Amino acid sequence: MAITNKKIEDTVKEVIGEDALPIVEFLKEKKNISEFIIAEKTKLDMQSTRNILYRLHNHNIATYIRKKDRKKGWYISYWTFNKKRIQELINKMKREKLDKLKEQLDKEQKNIGAFFICSRACARLDFDTATEFEFKCPECGSLLNQQDNTKTIGNIKERIKKLESAS
Ligand SMILES: [Zn+2]
Repeated sequence: MAITNKKIEDTVKEVIGEDALPIVEFLKEKKNISEFIIAEKTKLDMQSTRNILYRLHNHNIATYIRKKDRKKGWYISYWTFNKKRIQELINKMKREKLDKLKEQLDKEQKNIGAFFICSRACARLDFDTATEFEFKCPECGSLLNQQDNTKTIGNIKERIKKLESAS
């Protein structure tokens, strides 16, 4: 399946940060571009450019080779965007989110009707923790009310279904 620009953008934003977008945008369809060219074309200073490039490299979103500049005698890195890594990251994040939601769902289902919330909504505690605080809100001291969590369960199930059907 082809990766859309939107997916690339969203993934880079989530994994690396918004500041990496101009570099990714520039590198996307190119290969082996010198770090100096990248800085020049994105109008970033060398330090920021290198910082972002190494963050991209840490997640294997960009790879580089180093070559010695014959005239100047120092090494220059040449960068390539690793497009196929984006889909891997999307799959990985999806798995992680699903795991987390399933864990949450499990907890809710094991504690049906046994959650307690503060009337001012500052806290939501399970039965054991609520007992510990003698059914008073640890934040404001208001009495805690038993909460029907079937709605929460429905919401989590809905989110799992949506995530599972997303590609
Ligand atoms: Zn409270």
